[in-house]
Amino acid sequence: VRSSSELPVSEATRTFLAAEHKMTIGGRDVAAASGATIPVYDPAAGGTIAAVPAGGKAEVDAAVQEARKALSGPWSKLRPTDRERLLLKLADALEADGTLLAELETANNGQSIGIARAIEVGASAEHLRYMAGWATKIYGQTLDVSIAVPPGTRYRAMTRKEPVGVVGAIVPWNFPLSMAIWKIAPALAAGCTIVLKPAEETPLTALRLGQIIREVGFPEGVVNVVTGYGHEAGAALASHPGIDKVAFTGSTEVGKIIGRAAVDNMTRFSLELGGKSPMVMFDDMNPDLIGTAAAIGVYFNQGQVCTCGSRVLVQKSIYDKVAEAFVGVANTLKIGSGFDLANQINPLVSKKQQSRVLGLIEKGVSEGARVAAGGAATDGNGFFVKPTVILGAQPDNILVREEIFGPVAALMPFDDMDDAIRQANDTVYGLSASVWSRDINRCFSFADAVKAGTVWVNMHNVVDPNMPFGGFKQSGIGREHGATAVDNYLETKSICVAF
Ligand code: NAD
Repeated sequence: VRSSSELPVSEATRTFLAAEHKMTIGGRDVAAASGATIPVYDPAAGGTIAAVPAGGKAEVDAAVQEARKALSGPWSKLRPTDRERLLLKLADALEADGTLLAELETANNGQSIGIARAIEVGASAEHLRYMAGWATKIYGQTLDVSIAVPPGTRYRAMTRKEPVGVVGAIVPWNFPLSMAIWKIAPALAAGCTIVLKPAEETPLTALRLGQIIREVGFPEGVVNVVTGYGHEAGAALASHPGIDKVAFTGSTEVGKIIGRAAVDNMTRFSLELGGKSPMVMFDDMNPDLIGTAAAIGVYFNQGQVCTCGSRVLVQKSIYDKVAEAFVGVANTLKIGSGFDLANQINPLVSKKQQSRVLGLIEKGVSEGARVAAGGAATDGNGFFVKPTVILGAQPDNILVREEIFGPVAALMPFDDMDDAIRQANDTVYGLSASVWSRDINRCFSFADAVKAGTVWVNMHNVVDPNMPFGGFKQSGIGREHGATAVDNYLETKSICVAF
């Protein structure tokens, strides 16, 4: 177990970690009124590296009040182009602070510093820039209407898009900064104000983001950051009558709780939830891509990706070859701390997540599946799980049904297109899928038939700010990214003029 002073990080990151952490509420640094804190762990070595305020109902109340005040205050007076400029400044500020943010994420989430730099910082900045553009491109329509009462009266109607209001954003631990930006960026473009609740496991970049947002000049109260446990701060936020919309990314289980709480107040909600995404490999696929499919589709970020291709469906004639390739990849990926770029498998986020993944593997084996690679923790204190290949799992095996959120691929054979589609859709989830083939007819036939929010062809796990992202079935409600995401944060008002 190493202390925070032993982490291989810059002086600025060391100083940040050692500071007393405060939340951002109404543009001020705020501690939890109770004085309670939550420990923050270093998943690669198991020790604690910081403590953050355990905010609860009192802090959520204060933050919602500040966000309401900001909504009708200076923020509402800004022009769309002012919001655009602030979002662009925020993107630059994120990059300028990239070393600190990336090191915090690797120290706290465990992910590779390469992923932290490229995705948490780089892609988040690009996301902000993309959404900045939408701030000046929000428009309604003019509408012809048929009504003529009293006789002779004519009407012209128009729609106007208005910010939905105060947004409660609750995000998970797998890509902490990105998940926060996916909500903050479109909400700010639309003119909303926000209370952000990061996951209790990974609060550090959200706390720094709260500071950066103040530094770039957003009016106070526009973005508030409350750290705390899900069942306390999260529950208080989702059920708060003072918010107009809740935007959630996390498990389907908690998503249902959030949806119910929101409906009680008629709060608008969007949910990005879990997945059990199929990667479907036809016999004519480019064999050179099998390794890519394993490394990017399944083991990327240790499988802690909501779109992880955890069900690998392989056409019977190439099943043995694909299984052998997956085992080869799993056995050669280098395991270790995310601070060393040579390491391709880093720790899972927490001891709890490590135990959960190992428990699921054990249960799957007791139900008849076979571990062909990995299947165990590494020696030492970090929360590592070896990249795992599961063979021989029946369709009702827990490893085929449940989201694992770890580096585990279950390979299953299929006969033909119909069988592939049937197996791919045999899940309560519908977040994503991929199809691997050189035959365009096969690719489109599968893409049309699969019930999934995103379908990749000859690739997996690629997202772009312009490409709607979200789930069919129990993988969620609503879409992030693209114009759709901005619309999530707008209300439509009809204005009808008699003349
Ligand atoms: P989680 O659902 O346990 O927690 C997510 C967030 O909800 C955290 O901030 C947590 O504090 C909060 N929370 C927990 N209980 C709450 C409650 N009762 N009321 C309000 N808030 C509560 O999920 P997790 O374990 O942090 O993240 C992993 C899950 O997230 C996986 O299921 C994964 O698929 C999903 N995920 C989905 C997407 C997507 O876009 N679809 C993206 C990333 C992660």
